[in-house]
Amino acid sequence: MILLYSSVGRVNKIGLAMGKKLKKLGIDTVEDLLYHFPFRYDDFATATNLEKIPVGENVNIVGFVDLIQNRRSPHKKMSLTEAIISNGSGQVKAIWFNQPFIIRNLKTGDQISLSGRLEDSFSGPVIKSPVYEKISGGQTTHTQGIIPNYALTTSITQKQIRFLIKCALQQIGEIEDFLPKEIIADYNLPSLHDAINKIHFPESKLDVEQAKYRLAFDELFLVQLESQITKIETGGSLALPIKFLEDETRNYVNSLPFKLTDAQKKSSWEILQDLAKDKPMTRMLEGDVGSGKTVVASMAILNAAKQNIQSVLMVPTEILATQHFRGLRRLFAETGIRVGIMTRNERKIDDEEENLSKKKMIEKIASGEVDTVVGTHALIQDDVIFSKLGLSIIDEQHRFGVEQRKNLTQKSGQAGITPHLLSMTATPIPRSLALVLYGDLDVSIINQLPAGRKPILTQIVPEEKREKMYQFLREKINEGRQVFVVCPLIDISDRMGVKSVEEEYQKLKGQIFPDLQIEMLHGKLRSAEKEEIMGRFTRNEINILVSTSVIEVGVDVPNASIMLIEGADRFGLAQLHQFRGRVGRGEHQSYCFLASDNSNSKTKQRLDALVKTQDGFLLAQTDLKMRGPGEVYGTSQKGFPEFKVATLFDQKLIKNSNEAAIKITQKSSNLEIYPELKQKIREKQRIAHME
Ligand code: ADP
Ligand code: MG
Repeated sequence: MILLYSSVGRVNKIGLAMGKKLKKLGIDTVEDLLYHFPFRYDDFATATNLEKIPVGENVNIVGFVDLIQNRRSPHKKMSLTEAIISNGSGQVKAIWFNQPFIIRNLKTGDQISLSGRLEDSFSGPVIKSPVYEKISGGQTTHTQGIIPNYALTTSITQKQIRFLIKCALQQIGEIEDFLPKEIIADYNLPSLHDAINKIHFPESKLDVEQAKYRLAFDELFLVQLESQITKIETGGSLALPIKFLEDETRNYVNSLPFKLTDAQKKSSWEILQDLAKDKPMTRMLEGDVGSGKTVVASMAILNAAKQNIQSVLMVPTEILATQHFRGLRRLFAETGIRVGIMTRNERKIDDEEENLSKKKMIEKIASGEVDTVVGTHALIQDDVIFSKLGLSIIDEQHRFGVEQRKNLTQKSGQAGITPHLLSMTATPIPRSLALVLYGDLDVSIINQLPAGRKPILTQIVPEEKREKMYQFLREKINEGRQVFVVCPLIDISDRMGVKSVEEEYQKLKGQIFPDLQIEMLHGKLRSAEKEEIMGRFTRNEINILVSTSVIEVGVDVPNASIMLIEGADRFGLAQLHQFRGRVGRGEHQSYCFLASDNSNSKTKQRLDALVKTQDGFLLAQTDLKMRGPGEVYGTSQKGFPEFKVATLFDQKLIKNSNEAAIKITQKSSNLEIYPELKQKIREKQRIAHME
């Protein structure tokens, strides 16, 4: 028997080799496999008139093989398998490359279903390398009706993944439902079993809609349930009050090289007032990219440090940790506040050059020799105990997991004390929504950019304008500015982005700008190398930085004024907006170039939205509206990674799931009477903890 939490290798048809391939997709357990949802559906239910298929369209055809033969291509040494397919409305040609064995499987007269894109070739329209399946009387899994499409690596085919999911579903039998029966009944939800089956093998669009509804409900419900539980658990807990030190704060603000915006002042005030209480603050600070959240957080750190209360600033990447470490040191230069950094690879206090040993660093944190520590997850996972931790700040993460919060509580070094919590995000969630979704949080919003910021001039660059754009880059670099180049992943097995970044680097360094300083940044580099490169970029010793999306969040180099995004159509709008936010951070006019050759009108419309507006919330909304009806999720969700299916705009669903979460916790605050649900939450937290 297999369970959701069983290793995916337990599915009958999955051997060692396939297990490895699945791992590349992040699929370890049976649940991961079943929750690897299609990102798109093609609707092939209606019969196709073969004479009227427009070139460039995806088609599915059910028809008969009129002719099939192998031949060699005249120029390239390739084998071609050509077939003529007809369905009564006309004929269409299909070609497969280097798959001569197909001819053994498909014979003249066979009925097949076939899907692929109709393309123009010199011998007329043709479907190249279509997915096909022989119809032998019964149902087909692969090409009939509504066809799911999965995000895959090159080494697994759509056919294979569908087959494996089918096997897993058969083997697992009835999927146990973790939602309480009364919730399923009250909100008229399909069972989990049905939802999972229907999202993979729908028979109609309605099936897809119902499955999505249930799965989105689950996502929202679980987040809110966690919020409710946290609220109950932390309801009576105590924090160290951090008094508002008026003089010190004023001096500090006066020492800044700029004037705070009104929105920054207001948010700081809300935070500082909360900190003075002996009840732990849980506040989210929301502000679009570049709105200046860091300096607001620094005021909280300042007030704590001046009262000998330690604080910690957690960030998602090492690059960001280094940047904040340097930034805070600069901001606090005159204050005597000791800033430290602790990541897997870097452990320092103030401007010591050499890394401290882990043991030494832990000692210094425990003895209170450091006032504030910047770090990645490594910081809370290691056995670090503070001397007196009163404030935890999380940057660029939508939400701190309950588990991590508990973990921090135990690190405060003071029995029974929960640190105040501030989480900072650029995700544009309207306040009302945030309050519902994260029922245990308060929200502050920075809704204006610092004065004098010029809008970032954004432009779509088709191939024929590339030359001109490169000239422009050179001019700006000659004026002293710097450039980011972001590359999309070539395929998902290139998870670290090595291949795509290297190719782009070779092109720029080899042909276009051989005389300039160019470096690359991707997931395979060691942290020390990343840090060294970011350091040199910050000091303007590098003109062009070619990177994967690792620079997506937080990176702040005000002298960099140009962002060039290659293959821009491959990214979601929210993510493109984040990339763009890396420039326009200083006094220089900034530019964002969206290189895209995709002339599809929908793509163009999407990129146009980015050209027209700089408002993150508007963009998130546009993104969603433009997504095709069949698109369940994709890169477009990047700005809000907790959810695969649900979106910020499912108002009714958010309201319902909120109500449901409250109902459940009112009945049983520790989920004692809902063991399956309790198990699910535990599992969710375990996973969050490992990531
Ligand atoms: P984000 O909100 O995206 O984290 P940062 O905190 O990184 O933004 O700030 C972006 C840049 O703006 C930094 O270089 C910071 O020093 C600068 N900055 C912050 N506040 C102001 C302000 N009031 N006036 C001018 N520049 C500011
Ligand atoms: Mg930031």
